[in-house]
Amino acid sequence: MRLRLQPTTLTVFGKGAPGSVGLSFAPSASAHCSKRCPHYGRGCYAENLEKRYRALADKLARHHSQGFAATCRAAQEELRAGERAGFTPIWFRLCVCGSVPARPTRDDVRALRELCGWLVERSIPIHFPTETRQKATRYRRALRGLGVVVRESATSAQRFKQASGPSSFVVAGTMADARNAARKRRKATGRRCIVCPAVAAKKVGADAERAKCGNCTACATPTTDVVYPKH
Ligand code: SF4
Ligand code: SF4
Repeated sequence: MRLRLQPTTLTVFGKGAPGSVGLSFAPSASAHCSKRCPHYGRGCYAENLEKRYRALADKLARHHSQGFAATCRAAQEELRAGERAGFTPIWFRLCVCGSVPARPTRDDVRALRELCGWLVERSIPIHFPTETRQKATRYRRALRGLGVVVRESATSAQRFKQASGPSSFVVAGTMADARNAARKRRKATGRRCIVCPAVAAKKVGADAERAKCGNCTACATPTTDVVYPKH
């Protein structure tokens, strides 16, 4: 079922199949984002999006000023209201834009655990990317026991070959370059690694309707790593 209510905290996003929702906490390439992210100030896709859509930029600024925990709780309220109206998301994406705080407070962790616990209880898959190894480690600890996949976005090709947990990497260049990076990761770790079908379909001009988050659940799968061709 599609989202019936007009979300004020949650968002929909282009890569998500109908029924997917996202939640972001702050503007991109500022506030929570680590400067070690290779996209920070260098063509971050989300930053470009915020420049085009003023309402989105305003919403992110609002979320940042109300704080991380309050934004988690507002999102959970909206999800509850959606559930009462008959809507259950098929996919939940954290940080469509921006990131999570580098050093969450106890209350931040409590609010995030409550939100993720609510989603997990309903078997709603969660995509939670983090832009550094340190942040991935911190949030894996914070969400321990819930079964949420905290994905490390590798900051270099070298790191992508080495990271032991769920990981992803953005590859500039052709589809062949992306497939090559996935092959190297598979070879180095023995883990499954795919090229994101949503971005791949967009890149080659194929029908992307089926290849969308929610239909594809790779990013919420602990045993799968993902290469995103730069778009
Ligand atoms: S962490 Fe994400 S939103 Fe922030 S600069 Fe990097 S790619 Fe952009
Ligand atoms: S790999 Fe699948 S789940 Fe991850 S972003 Fe691409 S389409 Fe979405």
